[in-house]
Amino acid sequence: MKKVLVVGAGIGGLCTAIRLLNKGYDVTILEKENRVGGKVNIKIKNGARFDLTASVLMTPKIYTDIFSEVGKDYRDYFEMIKIDPIYKVNYYDKNSYKYYSELGKMVEELENLEEGLSIHYLEFLYKSFEKYLNSKKYFLDKPMINKEEILKLKTITKFLESNPFITTSDYLKSIIKNQYLLNYLIFQSMYIGVNPYKNSSLYTLIPAISHIYGLWYIKGGFYNYIEALKKLILELGGKIYVNTEVEKIVINKGKVIGVRTNRGNYKSDIIVCNADYPYAIKNLIRNKDYKEIEKQDYSCSVFIMYLGLNKKYKDLQVHNIYINKNFKKSIQDAFKGKLPKYPSLYLYYPSKIDETISGKFASILNVMVRVPNLKDSNIIWNKDTVQKFRNRIIKELKNIDGLENIENDILYESYLTPIHLKHKFYAHNGTAFGLSHKLNQTAYFRPHIKDDNIKGLYYIGSSTHPGNGVSVIIDGSKIIADEICKG
Ligand SMILES: Cc1cc2nc3c(=O)[nH]c(=O)nc-3n(C[C@H](O)[C@H](O)[C@H](O)COP(=O)(O)OP(=O)(O)OC[C@H]3O[C@@H](n4cnc5c(N)ncnc54)[C@H](O)[C@@H]3O)c2cc1C
Repeated sequence: MKKVLVVGAGIGGLCTAIRLLNKGYDVTILEKENRVGGKVNIKIKNGARFDLTASVLMTPKIYTDIFSEVGKDYRDYFEMIKIDPIYKVNYYDKNSYKYYSELGKMVEELENLEEGLSIHYLEFLYKSFEKYLNSKKYFLDKPMINKEEILKLKTITKFLESNPFITTSDYLKSIIKNQYLLNYLIFQSMYIGVNPYKNSSLYTLIPAISHIYGLWYIKGGFYNYIEALKKLILELGGKIYVNTEVEKIVINKGKVIGVRTNRGNYKSDIIVCNADYPYAIKNLIRNKDYKEIEKQDYSCSVFIMYLGLNKKYKDLQVHNIYINKNFKKSIQDAFKGKLPKYPSLYLYYPSKIDETISGKFASILNVMVRVPNLKDSNIIWNKDTVQKFRNRIIKELKNIDGLENIENDILYESYLTPIHLKHKFYAHNGTAFGLSHKLNQTAYFRPHIKDDNIKGLYYIGSSTHPGNGVSVIIDGSKIIADEICKG
C-alpha cells in the first residue's frame, strides 16, 4: 500500500486524506496544533462553542458528496439546516432588509425596496451563475498544472465571456443601480479577501451561488463538520497525529523521502502539504523561489470579536451585515493598510437557530471586520489597538436595531487578530484567505497543486489552486487525489 504523509489538518488536508484513503492509500496526517481543522476551528468558553472563523456554508452538495463518495450517509455524521432569510442587512441610515434564497420572497423584498429592482437582480443572478458554472467547468475543477489547459480556445472564450477585466463594483453597477442592493452584493463579493473596487468581477458568483443553493447551517456549529471528517478518516483507517510540527520536508535527488518533525522522522514517497503555501516553501522546503512569492499580492485579514451575551436578540438573523457610511472607503481601507474609521461588519449569530451552541450564555455572537494583512500595513496589534478598534465596533453595533444596549449585555469577550492567524495556523503574512485571488494569481497562475520540480510533492489549501474557501478546497481535494493516482 502506498504511503502518504499529509502536513497539516486544515480542511484541505482532511479532505485529501479521505479521498486518498478511499483510493487505497495508507495516510497519516501530521498537525502541529492539538486540534484538527486549521482555520475552521472552535473556541470553547463556558460550554459555548464559538466557530473560530468560517460560518457561511455555500454549495451544500460539495460538503456531502465527500461522504457519499466513500459510501457513507452524511446524516450519520452531521445535521444540516437550510437558512432563509440568508442575510439581514442593516444600513447605517437605520434601514434594514432581509434577503432570501426563496425567489418569490426575494422578489417581494426587492420590489418593496424599489419597483422593478427584481428584474435587474434576476439579470445579475443569471449572469453570475453562468460565470460560476463556467468557472467550475473550465478552471476550478481542472488541475491547472499545464499551460495547455488555459490555452484551449474554448477555455479562453469562456474566460473572456465572464467579463474578467472589469472590477466587481463596476460590473455590479452596470446591472444594479440601487445602492442598498449594490452594497450588499459588493460586500459578499469580497468574501475571499480581494478589493471589490480594484479586482476582477469574477467573484460576483459568490452572492449568486449563496442565493441559488441557499446558505446552510450545521447543527452544533461549523466545527461539527470538521469532527465529522475526522471521524470518517479514522473509520477509513487513516492516522492523525496532533501536536506534531513538521520542521522540514526532506528531499533527496529531486524527490521527497519524508519529513522531520518535533517528534521524530517519518518516511514517505508522497507528501501532501496543507500548510499555507508561501510559509511552506520558505520554511519547510526552503526553496529559493520563496522570494518571488513574497512579492506577490496577499488577501486581507480579519479582526473578530467573540461575544458571550446575557440576552437573545430577536432582531438578528444567523447571518447579518452592517453597511456603514463611507462604505467604499471602509472596505478599501483593509487593502490600503488602514483600519476603517467607520467599519462595515459581518455578524454571525448561530444562537438564532441553535439552542445547543450558547453554553451558559443566553446567546453568542461573532463580529467580523476586514483589516489589512501584516505585509501591507504597519499596524501593531497590541492591547491598545485592539481596545480602540473594539470600541469603534461597539459604537457601530449600537446603531443596529435591537443592539442599542449590547455593551451592557456582554458577559464574555475575546478577539482574533492577524497575529493569531500568523502564529496559530502559520498563515503567511497573517492573511485570512492566503494569496490574493487577483487574475494573475488565479488558475494556472496560482501555485500549482503538484510541485513543478520535486517528485512526490503536492499542495492543497488557500494559497494554491483552486483557491480559498471551504467548499472550493473540498472540491480541490478531488483534483489533487486524482493527480496523485496518476503518479
Ligand atoms: C476569518 C475567516 C472567515 C472565513 N469564513 C469562511 C466562510 O464563512 N466560508 C468559507 O467557505 N470559508 C471561509 N473562510 C475560508 C476558509 O476558512 C479557509 O479557506 C480554509 O479553512 C483554509 O483551509 P486550508 O486547507 O487552506 O488549511 P488551513 O486552515 O490553513 O490549515 C492548515 C493547517 O496546517 C497546520 N500546519 C501549518 N504548518 C504546519 C507544520 N509545519 N506542521 C504541521 N502542521 C502545520 C496548521 O496548524 C493548520 O491546522 C474563512 C477564513 C477566515 C480566516
